[in-house]
Amino acid sequence: MLTQVKPVSPEAVEEAARLIRAGDLVGMPTETVYGLGADALNAQAVLKIFAAKGRPADNPLIVHVSALTEIPPLVRAIPEAAARLMEAFWPGPMTLILPKADCIPDAVSAGLDTVGIRLPASEAARMLIRASGRPIAAPSANRSGKPSPTTAQHVFEDMNGRIPLILDDGPCAVGVESSVIDATGDVPVVLRPGGITPEMIRDVCGGVRVDEHVMRPLEEGEIVRSPGMKYRHYAPRAKTVIFEGEAQRVMETICARYDAAEAAGERPAILGFDEHDFGARTRISLGSVRRPQEAAARLFGALRELDARGETVALCEAVEATGIGLAVMNRMGRAAGFDIERV
Ligand code: AMP
Ligand code: MG
Repeated sequence: MLTQVKPVSPEAVEEAARLIRAGDLVGMPTETVYGLGADALNAQAVLKIFAAKGRPADNPLIVHVSALTEIPPLVRAIPEAAARLMEAFWPGPMTLILPKADCIPDAVSAGLDTVGIRLPASEAARMLIRASGRPIAAPSANRSGKPSPTTAQHVFEDMNGRIPLILDDGPCAVGVESSVIDATGDVPVVLRPGGITPEMIRDVCGGVRVDEHVMRPLEEGEIVRSPGMKYRHYAPRAKTVIFEGEAQRVMETICARYDAAEAAGERPAILGFDEHDFGARTRISLGSVRRPQEAAARLFGALRELDARGETVALCEAVEATGIGLAVMNRMGRAAGFDIERV
């Protein structure tokens, strides 16, 4: 199959919408990461997503809508806290887990009684959903085990020959996947941190809990609330370690580890902030230390770059785990198998 990449235009969106209606897959931009979209109400189309990604069948998909009015047929109830979150943060980088209606195929919900719903801020994403006239199920458009794609080029690298069309809307503004919030109960629970932070949720709902697995690995036999937590996502081939602590000490430790790795014949690289001085050592930028949203926007591209350059050791500067920094540390932590050293 020939995979075309087309800049977003009314014609390209119409072509993508035709593909969605015909039960095919489309690489679609959103403000978080690029998605691999299919008609959420067509089980056959949804199964193609799992095949194209190599995604385990027990990991459910998020259903994207273009307006609040499209939601009632997809869910059995909208609890009070969920309604408040919708009002405050949609359109935006937030997925709400709600009790699912019967029209949602089991393939989408991976057999669960709930479904993840999102109203994205991306104008292009909403144009596509509207033009298709269908809710669109879309996980991140990477092959399973690779970092989520934040450019159309990333999608092409992973999906070339597997899907007919990728809509190109430039780099994603947020750069990490949506916050996933279990909104089935009275107090929202953050299952995956993202652009809508626990602090923002607490302000709106009066309370919030963050699932303990956000910052630690699973132990054998543990049961999780979100199937995605089971999988080691975003793993670069490089052995990845994160360093946290006072900035000067972190820099010195990273430089020492870098030199030792190089002396041992490894190919080390640093994921570090622009303000910090690592001399002539290879550094992939996480942007400004004062703007953690830059680290969010750059992290997945940086992880892909590590592999593309054949680096064998990655030494990463930690971000403070508050606000969007919690999402950055969750993704970086998973890439590193939560190998975090306090210095
Ligand atoms: P992705 O679309 O690749 O960003 O992954 C979607 C994430 O949302 C995965 O971590 C899923 O496990 C999670 N998710 C989707 N639907 C549900 C659900 N009904 N309950 C819990 N987690 C979900
Ligand atoms: Mg994903």
